Amino acid sequence: MSHHFQLRSSVLSLRFFPGGLGAGFSRTEPRYPGSSGSSGAFAVASPARTLQLHRAKATAKEVGMQAETAQGSAALGWAARDASGVLSPFDFSRRAQKDDDVTIKVLYCGICHTDLYTIKNEWGTAMYPVVPGHEILGVVTSVGSGVTKFKAGETVGVGYFLGSCRSCECCGNGYENYCSGMVLTSNGIDREHGGAVTQGGFSDAIVVNQDYVVRVPDGLPLDGAAPLLCAGVTVYSPMMRFGLNAPGKHLGVVGLGGLGHVAVKFGKAFGMKVTVISTSPGKREEALERLGADEFLVSRDPEQMQKAVGTMDGILDTVSAWHPISPLFALMKPMGQMVFLGGPTKPLELPAYAIVPGGKGIAGNCVGGIRDCQAMLDFAGKHGITAEVEVIKMDYVNTALERLEKNDVRYRFVIDVAGSLGSTA
Ligand code: NAP
Ligand code: ZN
Repeated sequence: MSHHFQLRSSVLSLRFFPGGLGAGFSRTEPRYPGSSGSSGAFAVASPARTLQLHRAKATAKEVGMQAETAQGSAALGWAARDASGVLSPFDFSRRAQKDDDVTIKVLYCGICHTDLYTIKNEWGTAMYPVVPGHEILGVVTSVGSGVTKFKAGETVGVGYFLGSCRSCECCGNGYENYCSGMVLTSNGIDREHGGAVTQGGFSDAIVVNQDYVVRVPDGLPLDGAAPLLCAGVTVYSPMMRFGLNAPGKHLGVVGLGGLGHVAVKFGKAFGMKVTVISTSPGKREEALERLGADEFLVSRDPEQMQKAVGTMDGILDTVSAWHPISPLFALMKPMGQMVFLGGPTKPLELPAYAIVPGGKGIAGNCVGGIRDCQAMLDFAGKHGITAEVEVIKMDYVNTALERLEKNDVRYRFVIDVAGSLGSTA
């Protein structure tokens, strides 16, 4: 996520650029990476031998499916047509499966707060019609002849992006999520495929290059695993990056929503002390008893906040709306690390005194790379971490979006896509 600082009298104002939460694209001026390194960089060599072996293993059914998808295939999704954000059925076409592609039947898809901003064009990036959804969990129905990583029948996931330039420093280091050519899974511009606007997981099937697909470990409930594809990696990745994964350290989690509640679970699995900082006193009992948090602070209660001053090693701020942040910095020990994950449209305000005297760190984080996403899923599989979900059918999606906007979900809506739409994939 990109941000910049604006000096306004003595207050530093921290402004998020929501377009940057994606790849820096805007509707009118798509920002493409420099001509070098983006176009034509997608050719992934598939050794002929691997290819032949793979062909030999493909079942007749898989081959049949490949033939079916060679010309692209009809897909059914639910799309927003304008800034009302109301979703309704939408017939469209998925691109033809290429040699390196995997075709996935979508089983479940989580509803992330980012979907809400996107369909309502709150970030000014919407390219209607928009089929949202980037917490995609599905089953592989067909693979291209060059696919080596997956086979039909495997349970897989696709997250916030499904492409990147593959040649920049970020891509080379496993941070495809910071590649300026990252292709968003929904409402993105797919340069590799004629600049088509990508349509997300609120749809029956999706075609994705194998390098942007992750494997879902056996044993995790599929509905609860779906939100890991965005919410999970978004909290796991900065925990790894900033050492907020060490037993005995004290982690603060601000906002107990989709991201926040999985942050609590990962923090506990890492052996940390975890304190939730929330505006919703009604979430206290669940936070402590069901999610395993150690402490729960109501952020609007100065007394509770005062007691925790100077105790935390780091904080993940997952709040979706404007909120005061100085009191949060006060909760951290000297040199504590704040990581902003939320994308409120109104700039947050950061007085320099909140970070200067204690030498505190401040960072942003946008989802995580493919390697981190796979590591997160493997860790979740080992520790039995999934989201707490309310599973819905597609025809409830508009009500679910309204409820999400009102902070009325414990803690993630997940659409039973296959159970609502069926699939021809
Ligand atoms: P969510 O489920 O709606 O959770 C957001 C939480 O923020 C709420 O549960 C609530 O927690 C708190 N909150 C809401 N309004 C607030 C207010 N006015 N003041 C203080 N706290 C408030 O959303 P989510 O899906 O977890 O996403 C959270 C944010 O992260 C969104 O901005 C989303 O776009 C962004 N996001 C970023 C990334 C990334 O890569 N950086 C990835 C996914 C999502 P309490 O009730 O506990 O206060
Ligand atoms: Zn998301």
